[in-house]
Amino acid sequence: MDDRQFRTAMGRFATGVTVIATEVDGDIHGMTANAFMSVSLDPKLIVISIGEKAKILNKIKESKIFTVNILAADQHELSMIFAGQLKEHKEVTFGSLDGKPVLPGAVVQVACEVSAEHVEGDHTLFIGKVTDIQLEEKEPLIFYSGKYRSLVKEQPVTI
Ligand code: FAD
Ligand code: NAD
Repeated sequence: MDDRQFRTAMGRFATGVTVIATEVDGDIHGMTANAFMSVSLDPKLIVISIGEKAKILNKIKESKIFTVNILAADQHELSMIFAGQLKEHKEVTFGSLDGKPVLPGAVVQVACEVSAEHVEGDHTLFIGKVTDIQLEEKEPLIFYSGKYRSLVKEQPVTI
């Protein structure tokens, strides 16, 4: 199996899009990620998966904190900014939740402390203990087969 086949297959799992953010010595760094999952209700834990070449990796190891910002449908430019897909540098203003950097306008902001990290292959899984959550009533951004999409009107699946 080649890399392309693996990526094509994994890309057919429709996801939302998040921006992971952390802060070291007053500098905020963000990265677009769709490898995000809820892990445990009691205690409240989530997981993210960060590639070994990503600059944010060592920053999260150092700060021991991060946030997960679930992007809204109108925030696809932020996804491109934090995936390094825009040529020009754009200033982004962050807010704060529980003292951690968050993106205003996100559907959900989740503030976390790192509770564990596991190296698996070429990624590191960070388990985050959730310390606070902020919700907004907005439509989410969707990522499917390498393209950004939006939800269509609710249509019940017939069984
Ligand atoms: P950089 O490449 O240096 O940073 C990313 C970009 O963010 C740069 O353009 C930088 O200028 C900008 N930036 C950072 N901080 C700020 C700031 N404070 N203000 C303004 N701009 C800033 N990779 C994974 O490891 N795991 C995933 O789950 C994952 N999911 C992805 C999902 C999607 C839909 C996409 C498009 C990409 C995904 N990636 C994922 C790839 C990842 O987003 C890119 O490889 C990213 O460029 C790696 O970021 P970096 O930490 O190395 O930092
Ligand atoms: P793509 O076709 O590269 O990705 C489709 C799917 O494959 C992703 O949703 C993810 O599930 C998986 N995938 C892709 N690269 C991976 C990696 N290095 N490690 C583990 N899983 C990976 O989609 P695209 O639009 O071309 O992606 C844009 C860029 O973002 C690419 O460079 C891609 O490698 C990167 N990306 C990385 C991850 C990740 O590291 N977990 C996830 C998504 C996208």
